[in-house]
Amino acid sequence: MEQMMGYFRENIENLEAYVPGYQPAGNDVIKLNTNENAYGPSPKAGEALKNFSPDELRKYPQPSADKFRKIAAEVNNVGIDNIICTNGGDELLTLAFRAFTDEKRNVCWASPTYSLYDELSGIQGCSALRVTYQPDEAVQKIAEISASLSILCNPNAPTGDFITPDRISMLAARLEGLGILLIDEAYVDFAPASCAPLVKEFDNIIVLRSMSKGYGLAGLRFGYGIVSENLLEGLNKVRDSYNVNRLSVEIASAALADQNYFRKTVEKIKQQRETLRVELVKLGFEVNKSHTNFVLAQHPEAKQIYNKLFEAGIIVRYFDLDGLRDKLRITVGTNNQNNKLLDTLSTILPAL
Ligand SMILES: *Cc1c(COP(=O)(O)O)cnc(C)c1O
Repeated sequence: MEQMMGYFRENIENLEAYVPGYQPAGNDVIKLNTNENAYGPSPKAGEALKNFSPDELRKYPQPSADKFRKIAAEVNNVGIDNIICTNGGDELLTLAFRAFTDEKRNVCWASPTYSLYDELSGIQGCSALRVTYQPDEAVQKIAEISASLSILCNPNAPTGDFITPDRISMLAARLEGLGILLIDEAYVDFAPASCAPLVKEFDNIIVLRSMSKGYGLAGLRFGYGIVSENLLEGLNKVRDSYNVNRLSVEIASAALADQNYFRKTVEKIKQQRETLRVELVKLGFEVNKSHTNFVLAQHPEAKQIYNKLFEAGIIVRYFDLDGLRDKLRITVGTNNQNNKLLDTLSTILPAL
């Protein structure tokens, strides 16, 4: 028989699968590995769930999720035509790769950062140019490449660094007419400022938002883009017409509208983030200031510490990647969870 071509396209055949953070089945571990919100969603989200009538599921959803878009426009002080809803922020990334990259149109980002970008560029089959992430230099380096799609994760994961919107607006100006600037703001709820206002100034901006982190709805899968108005129609062409479902629109809308609960819980996490950082430093870790809901803690024995914590029922994130092998990414938990982590570390570390 003639040698058959594989069923899969060559770039899929060659792709290494994305490895999501470990998701244990039970609730008997302390889970500080995927930056979920320690406090969970607003009680208003729970009410929306309870009040939802199963009969609603008979009908397809309103295709653009206008109920959510109206609230998102208000909260972010932009127009409704600056908002697109997606099945998690991750889907917005998929849409951007689909819409703006191919064999001839390249993508650029600064790494280390969110490793899903690697995956999506591999699937799309576009060439990916990676510059080194340094908060002082990333903007300049990305500008020099001027790719069709430039992605800046801000605040950056897993480093926790933050670049001010001022500097990012210079990058937007530089890229205008040349390519799209996608600012991944999955963690902006814990940061000093957002790039959302840039959508009114430039025609090439996509700001990614997620309901998974600040709003405690990672299990729901809901995100959205704040985009330059001229981009909306094209982005709508590449998404599924019914990409977000009726139930999730109700729950996400209720959570986003409850800005009081949101601010209260985010404030608590920001305070605990600083306490956790200071205590980790006392234990011998090197920890930079973070603008997210996690800290990146450096220690020469990071891998071993990860394993010992795992045995003790505390899961943090270890990346077997260049520049990260001596670091642990630890989600800020509740006071109680953080204290258990610190107690466990203080017994593990002397025994190393
Ligand atoms: C969590 C996250 C997202 C989006 O997550 P969703 O759960 O799909 O909303 C995007 N970028 C980064 C860097 C993230 O950490």
